[in-house]
Amino acid sequence: MVQAVEIEGDRICITLAFPFPEGPIQEKVAQFVQQAVEKVSNGVAVEVGATEMNTKQRAAFLALAKDMQPISGGHIGMVLAVMSGKGGVGKSTVTGLLATELRRRGFRVGVIDADITGPSIPKIFGVHQAPIAGPRGILPVKSRTGIELMSMNLLLPVEDRPVVWRGPLISRAIEQFWGEIAWGDLDFLIVDLPPGTSDAALTVTQSLPLDGIVLVTSPQDLAGMVVRKAAIMAQHLRVPLIGLVENMSHIVCPECGTRINLFGASRAEVTAGAMGTTLIGRIPIDTHLSILCDSGAIEEYRANEFKEITETIIRSLDIKAREPAVGASLPLS
Ligand code: ADP
Repeated sequence: MVQAVEIEGDRICITLAFPFPEGPIQEKVAQFVQQAVEKVSNGVAVEVGATEMNTKQRAAFLALAKDMQPISGGHIGMVLAVMSGKGGVGKSTVTGLLATELRRRGFRVGVIDADITGPSIPKIFGVHQAPIAGPRGILPVKSRTGIELMSMNLLLPVEDRPVVWRGPLISRAIEQFWGEIAWGDLDFLIVDLPPGTSDAALTVTQSLPLDGIVLVTSPQDLAGMVVRKAAIMAQHLRVPLIGLVENMSHIVCPECGTRINLFGASRAEVTAGAMGTTLIGRIPIDTHLSILCDSGAIEEYRANEFKEITETIIRSLDIKAREPAVGASLPLS
């Protein structure tokens, strides 16, 4: 990473090359280097500048980084991924609700927002503070009820700046979210995958020790065609499918309670069967849910449908007998 060391007049100028154009790590590393050199510079001023690695340097750097062991040292019980065939069907919402319900049951829960280019986890949990470095790596940011969160959005200097990265860089970032974040001990780590069968989705399914995948679809999802592709990818990679959640399946009239199937009769059961899995449950379109998501308060949402979905997931993972984390508080219960 040391690109140049020059002595200019009465200053020592060091240039470091980083694999990514910007990020909070840059500043920290530059600071460490500056302090280390100042210790031996006999009072001569030290300046540390940053530049971006070229393609060859980045490839070599990332290859080295790949061999590093996770530094967090904690124990993660179950790793679940939430996947959808396309965007906008409610994958992040389902991730958020699942994390919330598991947390309500006293489990220690973490969420990786692997939807690097369209991250929405921080927004729905109302979390905006930048993560800080701990002795064992970057610490995830805690939500109001104690869910540990990590998202690219939390690392960007300006939240609404788009991440214009190509597949390999995105994949690498997700691997780092797994291996280099100090998650500590968790019962569940839930990964909100990018939609579809992109590089990033592939990386997670290949390089994270997934215990299962929850598929999310909506009735408009081309009769489940795109979600079927995602399911086939999961099956190819030998990751167990926990089941299918149909989101936005219907709407319940607030006046008379009539259930309206906006998109016709649901085909979710048939779609799930065709993928060799089962329908875990249906979530109606609920304005209250979208308002809570928009205001960063998803943890306040309660609905029987999702309670049942969570219980089915827990049952299917065969962790019925598992006790929630000792001493865990039961927020919002
Ligand atoms: P994805 O992660 O699949 O792109 P999101 O979870 O971000 O989708 O959801 C897309 C939008 O739809 C969000 O604004 C979210 O609040 C809203 N939404 C998702 N599910 C529901 C639902 N069941 N009822 C009402 N709004 C919903």
